[in-house]
Amino acid sequence: MARRGEFQIIDRFFTHEAFGEWQSQGVGDDCAIIDAGDTRFAVTTDMMAIGTHFLPNALPETVGYKALAVNLSDLAAAGASPRAFFLSIGLPERDDEWLAGFSRGMMALAEETGCALLGGDTTRTAEVNGRHAPVTISITAMGALPKGKGLTRAGARVGDDVWVSGTVGDAYAALKCRWGHWQVMPDQQPALFERMDRPTPRVRLGTALLDLASAAADISDGLSADLGHILERSGVAADIDWESVPLSPVLRSLAPGLQREAALMGGDDYELVFTASPENRLRIEQAGLLTETRLTRIGKVCEKLSGDNLTIRSHDGAVIRTGMAGFDHFAGQG
Ligand code: ADP
Ligand code: MG
Repeated sequence: MARRGEFQIIDRFFTHEAFGEWQSQGVGDDCAIIDAGDTRFAVTTDMMAIGTHFLPNALPETVGYKALAVNLSDLAAAGASPRAFFLSIGLPERDDEWLAGFSRGMMALAEETGCALLGGDTTRTAEVNGRHAPVTISITAMGALPKGKGLTRAGARVGDDVWVSGTVGDAYAALKCRWGHWQVMPDQQPALFERMDRPTPRVRLGTALLDLASAAADISDGLSADLGHILERSGVAADIDWESVPLSPVLRSLAPGLQREAALMGGDDYELVFTASPENRLRIEQAGLLTETRLTRIGKVCEKLSGDNLTIRSHDGAVIRTGMAGFDHFAGQG
């Protein structure tokens, strides 16, 4: 199948036959899962730029917190426990106040999750037409996994339940509101904006699912897209019941079309979407209680026939949408 822009670039230029002593269980996954002797690591890297991933006026605390949070979210998707990270940062200029806020936001989350900053690199961003490019951040995070374990996107089986944590669509709705495209009541704004600025990486849930889930991904590109990645890599399809998809009260106050757009297509929530055998339902509910995470069953994995592998239906069985488009940095290019 033709792949979309960002993924087409990775397929064409950055996918190679495995070589060397270290190999990954999860090429194309949220994390690379690497066995080094008796130790199993999960490693992920994410790059973010002000203006692309953050609004130009984002608070430095928010940028620092979220830059680390999105990496921890990938570790969570692998079921790994955060241990260490490396920070590479390009700065247009020296601004100590900004850097202090950035560091505060980042290190508070690092300490909370026991993930130590062990190295990195600091440079000045390129100067183009007399101006330096905005702040660019790349974080590589490493987590520990028990021997032989680790969640990937590839294990979903026909008959499995599809689950999602928390609620979806809020971060996208927050962005739409900040752009002035959508409106919510002023008293609803703080809770919504919090979901965009301070997503909770589901680290404790991820580790609790290690023996329970058959496949998992975190929702960075959107529920349809990230569940789509699981389906594609597992060679299966899924039927999702739209009315079961967990939405926050703020999202429910929007017009139905906007609710769907945000919840199905909107990214940046950093919830986990995962599949698991129906036999594990009770234990999964217990994992939700134990980690204080709302968990909702939203559909079933089914056999892949032809055409789209993701179908979203309303209660009466009518198809709301198929396909799995999500955010793509290079949509329409290439
Ligand atoms: P996530 O959103 O979970 O961080 P991405 O969508 O960014 O994952 O990446 C999808 C997969 O492609 C990951 O396994 C990632 O490691 C891999 N990947 C992305 N960019 C590159 C690259 N430049 N070189 C090699 N692998 C890449
Ligand atoms: Mg991910």
